[in-house]
Amino acid sequence: MMPDDMADLHWQHELLSSLEVGIVVLNRDFKVEVWNQFMQNHSDILPSQICGNALFDYFPEIDEHWLRTKAEPVFDLRTPVFLIWEQRPYLFHFGCNRPITSDSANMFQNVTMFPLTSPSGDVQRMCMMVYDVTAQALGKLRVERLNEDLKHMSRVDGLTGLYNRRYWQERFDTIFKLARRREKPVTAMMLDIDHFKNVNDTYGHQAGDKVIQTLARIIRDTVRETDLAGRYGGEEFAVILTDADSDDAMLVAERIREYAQQTTVKHEDSEISFTVSLGLAPFATTYTHAMAWLEQADIALYEAKTQGRNRARLQFARTANPAF
Ligand code: GH3
Ligand code: MG
Ligand code: MG
Repeated sequence: MMPDDMADLHWQHELLSSLEVGIVVLNRDFKVEVWNQFMQNHSDILPSQICGNALFDYFPEIDEHWLRTKAEPVFDLRTPVFLIWEQRPYLFHFGCNRPITSDSANMFQNVTMFPLTSPSGDVQRMCMMVYDVTAQALGKLRVERLNEDLKHMSRVDGLTGLYNRRYWQERFDTIFKLARRREKPVTAMMLDIDHFKNVNDTYGHQAGDKVIQTLARIIRDTVRETDLAGRYGGEEFAVILTDADSDDAMLVAERIREYAQQTTVKHEDSEISFTVSLGLAPFATTYTHAMAWLEQADIALYEAKTQGRNRARLQFARTANPAF
């Protein structure tokens, strides 16, 4: 080799070594031809070990069929191919550089694969560039998690963990629209704690809060996950019971009523008992908007109150049952 060629090789080698990017050259059989310092540092595999061998022999965790298929356009169409961490966190299972400051055990990677054209114009090799994108990936994941938390907080009532009124209403509107198109029965239920002012007056506001929390737990324990339960007001709750006709809904209402009646809330030296009244309104196609439906449940609740409390009452849409 000419001295000039030697010099060129030297600085080219320096360049490859100092890059903070992984560089791998692979032939069509996926045998490694170049393995730079970055790849060596993170894999503990020397170029002298891996060069001339198939990549998959050293990285059995890489899905061979998948990578070969992915890389087909590089060889066949001479177009670059990108692997991004959002789709697959990494290609090479490397440890993370910053285990102390980051909460990730592995390096997130973006990988670019592009064709290397020989002087005769054919493509027998491709270059793979491996970028460490752990910092930006973790940043994005953290923001996403934060947004999820914020979304959850904006939807949920702080005292009870049930949906707040605003979000409940939003979901209720959707359920109403669905109910108009579906055959399945669905029933709205409103609940209100009986003589709740007495609880506050006798035991204090904090005790009142505990009773509200206890009722929320009772509701959560009783209804199904597919039902929509929310805190509608101070000590008022609203639940949409999906796939439940008036008989099914009445069973649920009775279960909640009895459960509440049997439950005592401990507060300081007191044991507080409470009861609830419930109003039910099965969906009917005659309701032109969601609130008209909920108002019927509210009317039923009012009846339960005036008829003595600690009971559940049903209210049908007027045209659905002329008797009402
Ligand atoms: P009724 O049987 O007719 O429902 O009688 P009630 O005393 O429960 O009457 P009402 O439902 O009108 O009373 C609601 C009371 O709930 C009034 C308010 O002071 C209290 N309240 C509303 N929100 C909260 C809350 O977050 N915590 C507590 N401790 N009390 C609340
Ligand atoms: Mg009330
Ligand atoms: Mg009340």
